Amino acid sequence: MGKPVKVVVVGAGLSGLAAAFALKKHFQKINKPLELTLLERSNRTGGSLLTESHGGFLIEAGPTGFLDPDGILHDLARDLGISEEIVESSRASNKRFIIKNGRPAALPMNPVQFITSPILSVQGRLRMFAEPFLAKKDPETVTLAEWGRNHFGDEAVKMMLDPMASGVFAGDAEKLSFAAAFPRIAQIVLPHRSVLAGMAQTVYRRKFSKKPRYRLSSFIKGMSQIPSALEKNLGAGILKLNTSVQSIKQNGTGWTLTALEGNVPKSYEADHLILAVPSDAAARMLDPLSPALAEQLQQIPYASVAVVALGYRRQDILHPLDGFGALVPRAENLRPLGVLFDSSVFQGRAPQDHVLLRLMVGGRQDPSAMDLKDEDLISLAQEFVGKVLGSRGNPVLQKIYRWPGGIAQYETGHLERVAGIEREAQKFPTLHLCGASYRGVSTPLAARDGLSAAADVLMTAAAKPKARETEARVPGD
Ligand SMILES: Cc1cc2nc3c(=O)[nH]c(=O)nc-3n(C[C@H](O)[C@H](O)[C@H](O)COP(=O)(O)OP(=O)(O)OC[C@H]3O[C@@H](n4cnc5c(N)ncnc54)[C@H](O)[C@@H]3O)c2cc1C
Repeated sequence: MGKPVKVVVVGAGLSGLAAAFALKKHFQKINKPLELTLLERSNRTGGSLLTESHGGFLIEAGPTGFLDPDGILHDLARDLGISEEIVESSRASNKRFIIKNGRPAALPMNPVQFITSPILSVQGRLRMFAEPFLAKKDPETVTLAEWGRNHFGDEAVKMMLDPMASGVFAGDAEKLSFAAAFPRIAQIVLPHRSVLAGMAQTVYRRKFSKKPRYRLSSFIKGMSQIPSALEKNLGAGILKLNTSVQSIKQNGTGWTLTALEGNVPKSYEADHLILAVPSDAAARMLDPLSPALAEQLQQIPYASVAVVALGYRRQDILHPLDGFGALVPRAENLRPLGVLFDSSVFQGRAPQDHVLLRLMVGGRQDPSAMDLKDEDLISLAQEFVGKVLGSRGNPVLQKIYRWPGGIAQYETGHLERVAGIEREAQKFPTLHLCGASYRGVSTPLAARDGLSAAADVLMTAAAKPKARETEARVPGD
């Protein structure tokens, strides 16, 4: 059967787990021996995916769910035999709110609602309808806010795009790159240069498309189910938890890694190395080897965010919670970035006659929120719920989850930065970088990046014996 190919994956978040899963599957399929090791610093797999149960509440510490237009996580779930566990968000959660004058106002869902919506002033609404007729900037080089001002005017940026940047990236619309952070919208806009024209065509095309359309989804037991299933599939001896990689060195065409397992130094050898860690962690490991690569990796900024989960008796919240949640424009001078009505989005998130709310605090525009003590975070979240949704009692559940450097920010220049990183990394054909820092921040795209890294390993490994054959062939043989 020959010598096994040794692959070490560093980081057991979704991208690292997906990479390990795909490697195992591909090598089994081609009947080649693989020696696979997955090293994870913390005491669990999943990275940003973590679901906890407390007193009958099912709480997501990180992602609420996944939007999966290309079916990446749906396919992975099918391969893992957990398709039946996927749950779709409720129809009611199509409705989304924006806080206006301290109260949730429903975002318009169709042109008729748009005309009567109080979110924008009459001038603001007329400005939006002028969009197809105005000259447009190149969508590939502008920030989200610049793009929005150009297409829809300043009011739409303040009331809709700035909260959207906070809601998706915990980011800053004045810094996020439109094309890198919102590539799907950019794709719609590019051929038409008009969102309204592009959307009209997309709606028309979708009508005739045979592609399945997935709603926002999760799993019955929450987002942790996917890393749990991936971990189970790995089998024994592959995953090493509590193992933090400290440094990596080149060893011929392969690698030697030094890690700390608790306080005990350990070393690992690899023919191929997949770094499925955030780019700043990859930069620290790669700095001695390639300062140029490390420097580019370090340039990707991150936002830190805290998630405050509050469980209430249903009767104690006055708002009907008939939607997905509410985002907060900066002009409202409220500290949370938004609130999610988790128990209205997916079933089984709160006990009978209770509701679960989750608030996001911090992000790129409010980094000092991470210095707040737990009790301060809880009281500002409770105050927000009281003011904005109306409450007449204290929560029965309070939980805080902190994500320092939790979400990569695709700010202007991100696409060029990633292209530069890819160019520099190509100098090391057996090194593969993947994860949410580079080509998509959502869970399906993090998984896709892990799957692609596994495919790259396979291609490089398949090319290697050929290279050896060529070297070994003496002229005239
Ligand atoms: C609060 C929050 C809300 C989010 N909401 C959504 C959402 O609703 N929908 C959605 O699709 N996405 C959401 N995301 C984004 C999504 O969760 C992540 O982008 C994705 O899970 C990242 O996966 P990853 O594998 O790239 O990285 P990570 O999950 O960060 O995993 C990296 C792993 O590497 C490990 N590691 C780091 N350094 C080392 C080292 N030296 N040695 C060994 N191991 C190391 C870490 O411990 C970690 O387990 C959210 C993220 C956050 C933080």
